[in-house]
Amino acid sequence: MADQPGISFSRIAHPAPADPAARAEALANPGFGTLFSDHMVSIDWTDGKGWHNAQIGPRGPLTLDPACAVLHYAQEIFEGLKAYKQADGSLALFRPDANAARFNASARRLAMPELPEEAFVESCRLLTETDRDWFPTVEGGSLYLRPFMIATETFLGVRPAKQYKYLVIASPAGNYFKSGAPAVSIWVSRDYARAAPGGTGAAKCGGNYAASLVPQAEAIERGHDQVVFLDAEEHKWIEELGGMNLFFVFDDGRLVTPPLTGTILPGITRNSLITLAREEGLEVSEERYSLQQWRDDATSGKLVESFACGTAAVVTPVGRVAGHDGEFTIGSGGPGQLTQKLRERLVGIQRGTVADRHGWVVKIG
Ligand SMILES: *Cc1c(COP(=O)(O)O)cnc(C)c1O
Repeated sequence: MADQPGISFSRIAHPAPADPAARAEALANPGFGTLFSDHMVSIDWTDGKGWHNAQIGPRGPLTLDPACAVLHYAQEIFEGLKAYKQADGSLALFRPDANAARFNASARRLAMPELPEEAFVESCRLLTETDRDWFPTVEGGSLYLRPFMIATETFLGVRPAKQYKYLVIASPAGNYFKSGAPAVSIWVSRDYARAAPGGTGAAKCGGNYAASLVPQAEAIERGHDQVVFLDAEEHKWIEELGGMNLFFVFDDGRLVTPPLTGTILPGITRNSLITLAREEGLEVSEERYSLQQWRDDATSGKLVESFACGTAAVVTPVGRVAGHDGEFTIGSGGPGQLTQKLRERLVGIQRGTVADRHGWVVKIG
């Protein structure tokens, strides 16, 4: 992997890495997204020259011209993946090749240059290896990696930029849910959509998140945990949460998840769970499912569980759904059996306690 053509990383030693005692204290209770490791990866891209200047060095502020394109037209994409500690104490990434492929799909949609998949995986591997002392000591912790790319050209005209920077930073993350996963309550947005046909819903770009903040704040204000978006055309079909995909479980053991029609983010957790459920002999259909049907099936008992999934929390049971025209409870309102079983299976593979039959786990060494 390290010898992929054209991109090799130079290493710049950190002049003043974190004090080990302070680091140890932080790693015992890292929370999420506020603590960062000592290093970062960066690679530059310029039109005509391609990718160059690949390095791993001290993490620090970027210097950007105020006219830098990303600050005005939001040419930005990102990924999120985790390094997990294995039973033998080594670290491993989960399906980084899938993140690399999705990063490039996002790049194509945002008119940005594609990064060779090997360079993406190698950058994640290198940062994890370099900052392995930043792995949380708290039970169930992980090292969250955030690869992203921004348009750095100084230019206010509206066209794809001719200069970009790819970066990877790492953030120690605690166990999202300390004891198992409690069921969450979700709010159905009536007034806002996340993604429209032909838009950027299938790309992992910051702009999608900016658009989801007002409806997410509305959900919180009304006492719920997350917002769920309906399709933008008919306002009828369930799409996904602001950053997690959804599954529906029926009393006959069948699973349904909304299809990838371009307005839903193709989650790697979603894809992994479809594979694992099918291996269990369960029928999984990718088909449209309406809010009305969800309510009717939950009320009649035909629908027994629902869960959301994504890298950050892996699998989260949905216990209650509320909207402008009332609310309903799913099953007993708590975590369902299949939800817990699939969660344990996937978490087990990620942490090396359940056999990985798909080559999903990439050891760092
Ligand atoms: C990242 C993301 C997901 C989950 O994807 P994973 O690859 O499973 O982490 C789902 N929905 C949206 C909108 C996302 O940005």
